Amino acid sequence: MKHRTIIEPFRIKSVEPIGISTEAERIEQLKDAHYNPFLLRSRDVIIDLMTDSGTSAMSAHQWAGMMEGDEAYAGSRSWERMQDAVRELTGLDHVLPTHQGRAAERIIYGHLGGPGKVFISNTHFDTTRANIEFTGATAIDIPIAEGRDPAIRHPFKGNMDVAELENLLKQHRGHVGAVILTVTNNSGGGQPVSMANAEGVAAICKRHGVPFLLDCCRIAENSWFVKHREECMEGLSYRQIAQRMFSLADGAVMSAKKDALVNMGGFLALRDGAIAEACTNLLIITEGFTTYGGLSGRDMEAIAIGLEEVFDPHYLDYRIRSTKFLGEKLHALGVPLMRPIGGHAVYVDAKALYRHIAPDQYPGQALVVELYRLAGIRAVEIGSVMFGTYAADGSLKPSAMELVRLAIPRRVYTQSHMEYAAETFEEIMLTRDQVRGYRIIKEPRFLRHFTAHFEQM
Ligand SMILES: *Cc1c(COP(=O)(O)O)cnc(C)c1O
Repeated sequence: MKHRTIIEPFRIKSVEPIGISTEAERIEQLKDAHYNPFLLRSRDVIIDLMTDSGTSAMSAHQWAGMMEGDEAYAGSRSWERMQDAVRELTGLDHVLPTHQGRAAERIIYGHLGGPGKVFISNTHFDTTRANIEFTGATAIDIPIAEGRDPAIRHPFKGNMDVAELENLLKQHRGHVGAVILTVTNNSGGGQPVSMANAEGVAAICKRHGVPFLLDCCRIAENSWFVKHREECMEGLSYRQIAQRMFSLADGAVMSAKKDALVNMGGFLALRDGAIAEACTNLLIITEGFTTYGGLSGRDMEAIAIGLEEVFDPHYLDYRIRSTKFLGEKLHALGVPLMRPIGGHAVYVDAKALYRHIAPDQYPGQALVVELYRLAGIRAVEIGSVMFGTYAADGSLKPSAMELVRLAIPRRVYTQSHMEYAAETFEEIMLTRDQVRGYRIIKEPRFLRHFTAHFEQM
């Protein structure tokens, strides 16, 4: 018999209790957190969909590997395992271990960036953009037009606009630091990038002599979409698809907190020896020696195992299906969503949900607060709070989209947790006209969404 139900392909061996709060308690907690979910305490949160980053449940095999960790300063056995795992997957020879993705970004963009330099991506993730801009360089996003519209359906909304890439490379000749494909495209809705698009981008970069990098945090999830949506790809395994995409690139940056199924870690992998050498100097100064970077031996052990486990076809089927499960439930309720549903998260179009709240009153922030008030669900705004900038006259230049991301931690929540989340949206749909916007009353210069304070309008 072929079942319709795709089950979690694991049993639960260890559980972590969830504290259940009342709405009155949550209203106080929101006030104390200045209506910014980043300032809430984890112990108050019922279902934490803020991020899929570093929130995975590790397998028994990974936990066993933690005990095997070799904590030697130099030449650790665990480092050899991690290096082998990364080389085997990426085909990139030079591997630099870092404590998380942004440390790898700081190193590579610190080296390739600087004032006057330009970086081009399908969409720069927030830490990527911040690390690039911090060097004085400019970050330009060129997703395909379909990727900017939440309602348009397209199998690979994460793709880069290759015609625009040609134009920009001509326009900025001699000043382009790198072209970066983020797979899947996190800030653009967790949408996949096709092999054909990666091949197109790689060919253009080669012609212009510009480095082509993969931000490969979710390369396994991306491979699932390529196998099932792209022609001539169904015969390849998920790992082979990933390997083929890596073979196009000059380097890769990974936050292992995503598809390496660990709680902390990352790496930078490079093809070119000279760039790798310059980056290694920065690694040693700021992260650690070459055979551990920012990581413990046990972390490297868990990463090596996680990079194997994540390509298990049953795991990936379950993973993509469970994200879609939540998305389909919300769609059936009429919740405006980024569609089709991406790999690691469901993105709600808060602009369409709260049409009466203008972008400079942050409709996404309003939804995030409602989710917490009604259900203790923590989600994150990906809109004008995260990406908005100010014009010279002080008015807000809003982000292209006002999204709220419900990110699903890997192997953590069950179907009933997702049903509880979906049920919350019944109330959100009923009361949508009564919700008010927010104003920012305090913010830092970079990555303001992490620490900003808000006030209800
Ligand atoms: C998470 C993430 C990063 C940054 O990684 P950290 O481990 O959080 O520092 C970079 N790019 C993308 C696409 C990400 O999702």
